Amino acid sequence: MKKKLNIAIDGPAGAGKSTVAKMIASRLGLLYVDTGSMYRALTLKAINLNIGFSEKELVRLCEDLDIELVYENGECRVLLDGQDVTEEIRTPKVSQNVSFVASIPQVRENMVMRQQLMAKNGGVVMDGRDIGTRVMKNADFKFFLTASIEERARRRLIYLKEKGYDVSLSDVIAEISERDDIDKKRSVDPLVPAEDAIIIDTTDLTAEQVVDKMLSYIKI
Ligand code: C5P
Repeated sequence: MKKKLNIAIDGPAGAGKSTVAKMIASRLGLLYVDTGSMYRALTLKAINLNIGFSEKELVRLCEDLDIELVYENGECRVLLDGQDVTEEIRTPKVSQNVSFVASIPQVRENMVMRQQLMAKNGGVVMDGRDIGTRVMKNADFKFFLTASIEERARRRLIYLKEKGYDVSLSDVIAEISERDDIDKKRSVDPLVPAEDAIIIDTTDLTAEQVVDKMLSYIKI
């Protein structure tokens, strides 16, 4: 049987990766894997256990981390120790700390291994920061989505307001700029487009337009 496609989607926070990754996965009958949710789940666990953010503790916690991505009606839900934490991992407290957690080399090594297992048999649309450069270097298609910082912050602000958080546009700009900065400057697998990635600026495009553009490159 022909191996199913693997599609890598990378880019900074708020570039629209998860929205279009879900749409592409559903159109092509592939599984959507949100790798950011795995780093977020580890961050949430550290917060809940109140262990602080020492590298040693985080590495130990990561080794035993019971995290599962499950699919319900086409939605990817995140289970941490068997509990659904899909919403909880998106709180500002997690967002403010996740990039530090994800900058620890041994944490990344562990997470990359888990992600490569998920992609082993093909059939995934995976989004993150290092998918095309590290996790799925041999992906059939690689995309790198960008957008202006204002537009990215505006999108995230809409999401946070919908969830009832009282945050301003400048708070969100500060949060995602800091995350981008840590993600770009970390020593292991920093946020950078793969050499063979197709770069799409989504600033003035709707999600449907981005998906159409991406599908125009995907020849099956
Ligand atoms: O995708 P999302 O914004 O939820 O990711 C949260 C954080 O997890 C990112 O800012 C980044 O620090 C980290 N991350 C990563 N590598 C990935 C996915 C996410 O370092 N493949």
